[in-house]
Amino acid sequence: MKLKVITNDSDVSKTEEFPCISCHTNCCKEYVIFVNAHDIYRLSVGLGLAPESFLEIYGAKDYDLGIKVEEGLVDLALKQKDSRCMFLEESKDIFRCTVNDFKPSVCKSYPFQMKNGKLIQMSDKMCPVEWNTKEFEAMMSTHLKKDEDEWKFYDELVLEWNAKHYTKKPLSTFLKFMLDRVVLEFVKS
Ligand code: SF4
Ligand code: SF4
Repeated sequence: MKLKVITNDSDVSKTEEFPCISCHTNCCKEYVIFVNAHDIYRLSVGLGLAPESFLEIYGAKDYDLGIKVEEGLVDLALKQKDSRCMFLEESKDIFRCTVNDFKPSVCKSYPFQMKNGKLIQMSDKMCPVEWNTKEFEAMMSTHLKKDEDEWKFYDELVLEWNAKHYTKKPLSTFLKFMLDRVVLEFVKS
């Protein structure tokens, strides 16, 4: 895959290759990847794995958006191995995502985010490349809209669970409730 980028990195500008290929995947090593219902569904079905095998629970800070379960008020993220995403694999100093077809939507969007309805590159300097925002937006506009809708779906699902099921049920019950609703969503569409 080729993509034009604006960068000061002479190696990247010379080859014009997709920059993530030559990057040491700082993003996959540094971030905890929080996931939504559709991300979990795609990974679970695509890999044939139970969600519990790749999910880590984190204590939630946001009272409204954390999931209320027996384990506490929690958020869901991908498990880590050796302090980086469990799906990142290294071979001869090259790092690659082993779940490219099912990777979470936040991974596809990075290093961009919507701010006040406008797509901007995050300013956290984790990513060494100065991307061409217009080109990224054109390439990813369908994904970005879908991403926004999926997070909205997830937030509403968590609010509904918290309102109806605040009876100290275990996380496994929430996961079943959540995945059943994603399937229902697919049947409807
Ligand atoms: S998005 Fe940026 S930090 Fe992440 S792998 Fe690509 S070039 Fe590296
Ligand atoms: S799922 Fe793939 S792209 Fe996302 S953090 Fe893990 S290794 Fe990186």
